[in-house]
Amino acid sequence: MENSKLLHAVLISFSLAFVIPCGYGWGFEGHIAVCRIAQARLSKAAAAVVTKLLPASAKNDLGVLCPWPDQVKLRYRWSSSLHFINTPHRDCKDSNGVKGNCLAGAINNYTTELLTYPNKRQQYNLTEALLFLSHFMGDIHQPLHVGYTSDKGGNTIKVKWFNRATNLHHVWDTDIINKGKGVGGNNSNIDAFIIKIQQKINSQWAKQVNGWGSCNTASCPNVYALESIKAACQWAYKGVQSGSILKDDYFQTRLPVVELRLAQAGVRLAAALNRIFK
Ligand SMILES: [Zn+2]
Repeated sequence: MENSKLLHAVLISFSLAFVIPCGYGWGFEGHIAVCRIAQARLSKAAAAVVTKLLPASAKNDLGVLCPWPDQVKLRYRWSSSLHFINTPHRDCKDSNGVKGNCLAGAINNYTTELLTYPNKRQQYNLTEALLFLSHFMGDIHQPLHVGYTSDKGGNTIKVKWFNRATNLHHVWDTDIINKGKGVGGNNSNIDAFIIKIQQKINSQWAKQVNGWGSCNTASCPNVYALESIKAACQWAYKGVQSGSILKDDYFQTRLPVVELRLAQAGVRLAAALNRIFK
C-alpha cells in the first residue's frame, strides 16, 4: 500500500501533538446513521459519484460501509490515530488545542484526495478515501472523540450504565444510541432511529440546518471539533466521575445531544460531498 504509506507520512505531521490512542468513534450503528442521513441529502451529481465509488456488494448503501475504518485499524496501523483528537490540556475552552490535530487533518487530507475525481490517472484509492472521510466526519462529531488526553476521551472513566459496567466513552459511542433506538416503541432497528433524526432535521432543527452545512471550504473540521470539545464538557463529562452510575436522568438529557451530533454529522458529510462532487 504505497499510497497508504505516503498518506501516513503526510498525516503524521498532524498527529505529533496527540499521542494517546483512544476510542473507536461512534459505534457501528452511529456510523451507519450518519452515512445514511448524509446519502439521502446528496445532490444528483454527488449521489452518482458515490454510487460509482461504492463496491457492488454495498448495494449503493454508503451506511453499511461507514464502520469499515474501525475494522481495518490493525491492517492499516497508520490509521488508528486518525479517529480522534485529544484535547492537550484539561481546558475545554482552549481553542488552540485543536489546531493541527489528527482527526481534522485526516478529514482535510481525504477531502483533497476526493477532489482529484475524476482524474483518469488516479494515484489514490477513492473508494477508501470516501469511506474514511465519511467515517471521520462521524467521529469528529462524537464529543468524546475530542476529549481529554488524560482520560483517553473518557475510556479510563469506569462507570455503570444502569446495571452494567462500562466506560464513559463507550456510553457515548454505543450505549445511548442502543437505548435510544428503543425509545418510543419496541423497534430495536436502527432504521426507526434514523427516521426519527431525519424528522427532527425537517422540523425542530429545520432553521439551523443550512447553517450547519455552510463552510468556505469543503468542510470545516476545526469548527466541528470545537463544538465537540464544548459538548464533551457540557454534557459528556458533566457530573461524571469514575464509579458514577448513569441512569435515566443522564440518558434522557444526553440522548438529544447524541441525536443532534449524528444529525449534524450527516448534514455536513452531505454538504461536503456535494461541494466535492459538483
Ligand atoms: Zn472511528
